[in-house]
Amino acid sequence: SAEKLDKSKTLFLRKKHVGPSCKIFFSQDPIKIVKAKGQYMYDENGQRYLDCINNVAHVGHCHPDVVQAGAEQMGTLNTNARFLHDNLVLYAQRLQATLPPALSVCYFVNSGSEANDLALRLARNFTGHDDIITLENAYHGHVSSLIDISPYKHHQLPDAELRPSVHVAPSPDVYRGRYRADHPDPAAAYADDVRELIDRAHEKGRKIAAFIAESLQSCGGQVVPPAGYFQQVAAHVRRAGGVVIADEVQVGFGRVGSHFWAFQLQGADFVPDIVTMGKPIGNGHPMSCVVTTAEVAQAFASSGMEYFNTFGGNPVSCAIGLAVLDVIGKEDLQGNAVRVGQHLSDLLEALKRKHPLIGDVRGRGLFIGVELVKDRLTLTPATAEAQEVIYKLKEEKILLSADGPHRNVLKFKPPMCFTPEDAELVAAKLDPVLTGTGPLLGLKFSTVESVAPPCRRSKPFANISIRLEMSSFVFEVALVEKPQTIETNQTFTLFD
Ligand code: PMP
Repeated sequence: SAEKLDKSKTLFLRKKHVGPSCKIFFSQDPIKIVKAKGQYMYDENGQRYLDCINNVAHVGHCHPDVVQAGAEQMGTLNTNARFLHDNLVLYAQRLQATLPPALSVCYFVNSGSEANDLALRLARNFTGHDDIITLENAYHGHVSSLIDISPYKHHQLPDAELRPSVHVAPSPDVYRGRYRADHPDPAAAYADDVRELIDRAHEKGRKIAAFIAESLQSCGGQVVPPAGYFQQVAAHVRRAGGVVIADEVQVGFGRVGSHFWAFQLQGADFVPDIVTMGKPIGNGHPMSCVVTTAEVAQAFASSGMEYFNTFGGNPVSCAIGLAVLDVIGKEDLQGNAVRVGQHLSDLLEALKRKHPLIGDVRGRGLFIGVELVKDRLTLTPATAEAQEVIYKLKEEKILLSADGPHRNVLKFKPPMCFTPEDAELVAAKLDPVLTGTGPLLGLKFSTVESVAPPCRRSKPFANISIRLEMSSFVFEVALVEKPQTIETNQTFTLFD
């Protein structure tokens, strides 16, 4: 077995030595995965799970062609991009062939965050401006420059203020946003909001360097912007002297099926100035890329500052990247995303007709969101219910996550080798789970797990861990303002 430690020991060591900010999936009852193949993951007991979460394992977990390409190159040479090597230029050429001709210059980096951080540098250098327009609920990465432009991360902080150089435009969400499907022209309305944001920034003497957005928002709730939105935004932003950055870290490489890049869904008349890529590009190998125009690249070079990245574009990464592109083509994974994505969407639409908890089914290809609501008119987010659904599906050996600003959107972004049978299995398991998940109005208090001594703070906090159980899902409340006694069997309402 690939297991080296007993599961409880793994958990113990993780709690002791690994930064606690990285939350484990299904933290109340984590799973230990020891191997994976295609669209399936296996735990330490050999139990198989259907993986609807891992868009990184784009062509399937541990695809033999990718593994072989990496292993062979690792046994031959791995060094930095200051040496001439064929893999680097061959990869850049292959990648370019998937993009509009104007996007011709690549920078190779190691993570989506590095790609977006470099994109901001390129934009600021090219325009001579500083300010960034980002979307509500956007997430662009974990480094400081990107946390600043990631409102998704600021929801958790009660009084978070973004920097004056960051401007947040409404998410072009036609389901829950300010302009909905019944609006005569939501694309223009959302783009006009960006124009107004630019005008207000100009009034304050500020200048726009870039508008950055995911071509389809992922963490932001699987949002599909109305067609024509990006063209109009680009016109407003370019008029203000800024550039447009498309973040394709989650949605690129054919996931949307009909196109290789999700920004192409908007039409051939929309071409971003900078595109950032990550996650699927190396099928799990840390590799990422920024692609831009010759003009933006030339301006960056003219600044006189050299750009060097120790690992970016090394021969092993590029060999892996080439193998990923080969497999996407050879196995027609883009076509599979069209076919299986449509089948899955149809099955989910059928569930929507049956279950009032499903408010919306949306997406493209194998990038689908199912938004759960308590009420289809008020759209009250069914946050607890979404959690309950993913926990119950886990019991059925299906791995799914819930995200979005209200954590009520079930996110489907499985490996691209997902089959029609996999889609049918998910739908068949989801159906009874939805039947058993009515709107949850109250929580029943069950057990006090532990009472720790008050932590050292000026305010008297008691560090109490309480477990709240509602059917199979367990809530944990870690901090309570004041030490307080809670009666057994006391019921109280957390959601109304
Ligand atoms: N952009 C988007 C849209 C992302 O979803 C993520 C990661 N979730 C990133 C950037 C950052 O990528 P990484 O974690 O590889 O730095």
